[in-house]
Amino acid sequence: MAARPDYYKTLGVDKRASADEIKKAYRKLARQYHPDRNPGDKEAEARFKEISQAHDVLGDPEKRKQYDSGTGPFTTGAGPGGGFGGFGNFDFDGASMGDILSNLFGGSASGRRVRTKPRPEKGPDLEASVSITFDQAVSGAQVPLQVPMRASCPTCRGTGAKPGTTPIVCPRCEGRGIETQGQGMFSISQPCSRCGGAGTVIEDPCPTCQGTGAVRTVKKLRVNIPAGVKNGSRIRLAGKGEPGRNGGPPGDLYLITKVQASPTFKRKGDNLEVEVPLTIPEALRGADVKVPTLNGTKTLRVAPGTAHGTVQRLRGEGPPKLGGGGEKGDIHYRFVIDVPEDLSEEQQHAVDELSRTFGAGDPRAKLFGNGGGASTSTAARSGGESS
Ligand SMILES: [Zn+2]
Ligand SMILES: [Zn+2]
Repeated sequence: MAARPDYYKTLGVDKRASADEIKKAYRKLARQYHPDRNPGDKEAEARFKEISQAHDVLGDPEKRKQYDSGTGPFTTGAGPGGGFGGFGNFDFDGASMGDILSNLFGGSASGRRVRTKPRPEKGPDLEASVSITFDQAVSGAQVPLQVPMRASCPTCRGTGAKPGTTPIVCPRCEGRGIETQGQGMFSISQPCSRCGGAGTVIEDPCPTCQGTGAVRTVKKLRVNIPAGVKNGSRIRLAGKGEPGRNGGPPGDLYLITKVQASPTFKRKGDNLEVEVPLTIPEALRGADVKVPTLNGTKTLRVAPGTAHGTVQRLRGEGPPKLGGGGEKGDIHYRFVIDVPEDLSEEQQHAVDELSRTFGAGDPRAKLFGNGGGASTSTAARSGGESS
């Protein structure tokens, strides 16, 4: 075969290499493959011959010019065991296996590019519950709060590296953050097993945080509880969560309010409800009664003959509506008739008198249709007997 040898490849130099570079490359290789240093090694001997031949041509400006122009009687002329194009040449083309693989997959000749900054990440959100009184829920309050969270390590400022040292470029992936296994079509790229994809590794971990870059702290905050929160309201405090990573923004803090029950006011949606007891005479005759509001008291006019369970509203006297632009709920006053369990003798007489004035009218007559159903025999059987 008359294949034209690639002398540049043999010497591992560029086609534009200077005479000096060629000389240096030749000397280095000649020393390495010299028969005196490799006694009995046929392959080294063959290599030595190729190298010498290459230098013969490229080391001579005249011959080099001829060779470059593609003329001249240059053939392989390889000695015993010689083989241009054998795998032995591989070391000389200036590329490592890793470069070839990364070129196949990264598509970029700069496979060694170091990823300088990992992607910024928003810090995690936190949730905390805060106990407040009913009054605080209605009028809003500023309350102290202690939130356990991860914080950037003060010793290493979050780098995880011992002070005075810095994380080094990961030696396994050379900063790419991925590693490639296998060859050609069957290779797989995955996050680097050494650095987990960060591209850097810490050789001397920070003693405070053991290299994690974070410490657990309890952050003391004063948080503003908006007026009108309910039991179980979820309040978002933007940016009060855990710090972000790699320069990312902090997460948010969510407060869940636990509102202590009020003995007087009950929450019904946006409104409050108050039970207002009335005496029997008040319910019968009507009355002006004093009722509590959120800011003091008001007087309600109870109409004569008010039934148990009647509701009167005071509009806009309730708590502010959350996010309602200053709008307020109502207070519902629900009248309940206070029936005494024991009567004094005087009261007993009065009730007897009253009873007489109501005569024989039966308020339950309509329950039985046609008005004739409520007989005395039915009353006699009212002891819980059922049929
Ligand atoms: Zn790595
Ligand atoms: Zn640290």
